[in-house]
Amino acid sequence: VVACVLVVEDEHKIRQLLRSYLQHDGLAVMTTGSGAEAIQTVQDCAPDLVLLDLRLPDISGEDVAREIRRTSDVPIIMLTAKTDVDDRITGLRLGADDYITKPFSPREVVLRVRAVLRRSGGARTTRRSYGDGRLVIDETTRTLTAWGRPVDPTPSEWDLLMALTGSPGRVFSRAELVQRIRGHEFEGYERIIDTHVKNLRRKIEPDPARPEVIETVHGAGYRLTLSRDPRTAAG
Ligand code: CA
Repeated sequence: VVACVLVVEDEHKIRQLLRSYLQHDGLAVMTTGSGAEAIQTVQDCAPDLVLLDLRLPDISGEDVAREIRRTSDVPIIMLTAKTDVDDRITGLRLGADDYITKPFSPREVVLRVRAVLRRSGGARTTRRSYGDGRLVIDETTRTLTAWGRPVDPTPSEWDLLMALTGSPGRVFSRAELVQRIRGHEFEGYERIIDTHVKNLRRKIEPDPARPEVIETVHGAGYRLTLSRDPRTAAG
């Protein structure tokens, strides 16, 4: 399997240079000069690594990294002309795996890309954890672990949990949650959400009577109380 690298860089010359070096090294390459398109491409195409320029015309590289991290654990290498130490720290704090300062030699970039791909196993991972590992979700294998115990959610419970964990802390109304599971449930009564939440709590809460994972927000809906762990905590 050929690993695929997404190059996000608005400067045409640099983009083409990186593309040709990476392809020459046997990697598949996608490119874009837009931060918004980069976020969409990560969702749609699941690249194995993202080379991300910090200075983009539409969205800053920092914000692109933050958006990507909400849904993906894809390794990110940041590219920047800035040499400020603060930027380096910001980049790493946002979940970048490495940092390359311009001007760089394309050979160096290829070596760093290969090193990060080796570390990440060369394969994409979709494993995410929440609340210091209390909840671990792997979308590829469709497995769920709560408090260290494997859990077997129904398709509707799974979709519900995917919605809630997609934006930790955000309150989802019952109507929104109905939309997420409508694929397999035709009676779109909002009441059904309460039933699914109740069943899901039995599977994932240490004490379903005192929920600490999925919180009921009265008059509004439900939200995930656990926050997303940094990538390393998921293993
Ligand atoms: Ca730029």
